[in-house]
Amino acid sequence: MSSSIIGPEDFPKIKSIAIPPHPENPLLSSAQKEKLTQDIEGMLVNQNAVLVAHYYTHADLQELAERTGGCVADSLEMARFGTRQKADTLVVAGVRFMGETAKILNPEKRVLMPDLSATCSLDEACPAEGFIEFCDQHPDHTVVVYANTSARVKARADWVVTSGIAVPIIEHLAARGEKIIWAPDKHLGNYLRQSTGAEMVLWPGSCIVHEEFKSVALARMAKLHPDAAILVHPESPESVIAEADVVGSTTALINAVRSLPNKRFIVATDKGIFYKMQQAAPDKILIEAPTVGEGATCQACAECPWMGMNNLQNLAEVLKTGNNEIFIDPAIREKAVIPIKRMLDFAEKLKNARNKD
Ligand code: SF4
Repeated sequence: MSSSIIGPEDFPKIKSIAIPPHPENPLLSSAQKEKLTQDIEGMLVNQNAVLVAHYYTHADLQELAERTGGCVADSLEMARFGTRQKADTLVVAGVRFMGETAKILNPEKRVLMPDLSATCSLDEACPAEGFIEFCDQHPDHTVVVYANTSARVKARADWVVTSGIAVPIIEHLAARGEKIIWAPDKHLGNYLRQSTGAEMVLWPGSCIVHEEFKSVALARMAKLHPDAAILVHPESPESVIAEADVVGSTTALINAVRSLPNKRFIVATDKGIFYKMQQAAPDKILIEAPTVGEGATCQACAECPWMGMNNLQNLAEVLKTGNNEIFIDPAIREKAVIPIKRMLDFAEKLKNARNKD
């Protein structure tokens, strides 16, 4: 096996990313909140719309999505859910690539987002022009990209994967002897390469939230809670993953809280996930993995600033105005849908095979 992380000199310049100040969720009195949620519920019904929210969004949105027949999920399930809906409109509370994926899979539906400027550091770190040029330099490699990419990057890929399905897909490709270009998350790519033995070259992007977890402080915290299981999302650095009892997607981490016998869990992912974890196992104790300590920066807070841009007020606003609709160039959509559908078909077959076992 030969693998490499390609160095910065191999890359077209990655633009620097402007990280927005951490958004404050607008303070609402309980009466205002109730009025707002009632208005939203009415508009969802009148417009035959459903709310699809990611685990990292504010608990208010997750609760509302569940209560109104929408969905709270990871990006794989968000994509699947949209395709199963009869609704005319999908309102996607998350970050932009999630809205784009929903539109790519459902071109006939209207897709709205509370804030179109909610992006993702992984998406921003992988500009289409540079990525396409890079792929063209490795014509014998299969191009696998994370869902956290733009529609144009997906359009250049052979496969799109989410963290929930990445390991079996990379295993499948490695078993066929395929060499892989992986983009954009270098930590997830490194984890996949180590877990599967696949031959991979990695694009050097990272998630600004998971990048901030600190292994030294985590090990110290684990000593204070020796009974706790450590749950880590694979977008975290290798040294943090090395401390984990469970490494997995957001759904896998929620399932671990539900199924493991431990009473306590130290959780290294965006803390928006605590809403679902508490719901899944109300008697368990959840502890945030440290983002402070050696090497911490002012961004360290375990909350994605872009996920935090979604709130009840801008959700009500888009339903009222119809603003913030997602549009995708049809030529790009036609190409981007192929690797996404390939992933969904693979996930479906895998699920069926596991159900048979
Ligand atoms: S948590 Fe990280 S990977 Fe997820 S949307 Fe935010 S920046 Fe992107």
